[in-house]
Amino acid sequence: MSNHDISLVCAWLDYVTVPGFDDDDKPTKVPVQCRQPAEIAGTLVLCERHRAVRQEGRDNDRGRLLLRYRAEYPDAPFLKGFTYVLRLSDGRVKIGKSDRVDTLKERFKRHHGRYGAFDILAVIDGGEDLEMMLHWIFRKLRIKELGEVFYSNGPLISLMLQGDIAPAALPAVQWYEGYALGQGFEVEVPALYAIPGLPASH
Ligand SMILES: [Zn+2]
Repeated sequence: MSNHDISLVCAWLDYVTVPGFDDDDKPTKVPVQCRQPAEIAGTLVLCERHRAVRQEGRDNDRGRLLLRYRAEYPDAPFLKGFTYVLRLSDGRVKIGKSDRVDTLKERFKRHHGRYGAFDILAVIDGGEDLEMMLHWIFRKLRIKELGEVFYSNGPLISLMLQGDIAPAALPAVQWYEGYALGQGFEVEVPALYAIPGLPASH
């Protein structure tokens, strides 16, 4: 038997509640293996959806600890980079990060390919630690199967609009406006016009 004969299946166990057969039987929880086609993820074999679920759990643990740390040290600087918040065409929100302004452009281009045109709600100074904290704060809105995509609600949008566009990220934001316009989409960047000193028709 060669390696080609091995097809990996997801090892994730979901616990399904089975009702008792008699009135005095208590419901019991039974493990059910996922068994979808899978790949090796670290020390486990998981399908795409369960890789995302596991990543979410790790993000949440880190976000929770980072938020606790910042409560004690509010003036500590964030890691280098940008955390961006995009409103996708279906109204859902993507929160991601990029370490540099040139990789930020690449991210925007890739997201455009995957999700279609989007509005840029905020690009905030602060890298991975800021992103992790936002993922934790909005964890209940997170769509597990889609990685870093969230349902939108009022508090999320208003918080993000306070975030504004970091001046250092403007080249990437303006590049995306031009890129999307070239494909027939007018991008809304509502916060951009709130930056003092910027002409309205930048
Ligand atoms: Zn699975």
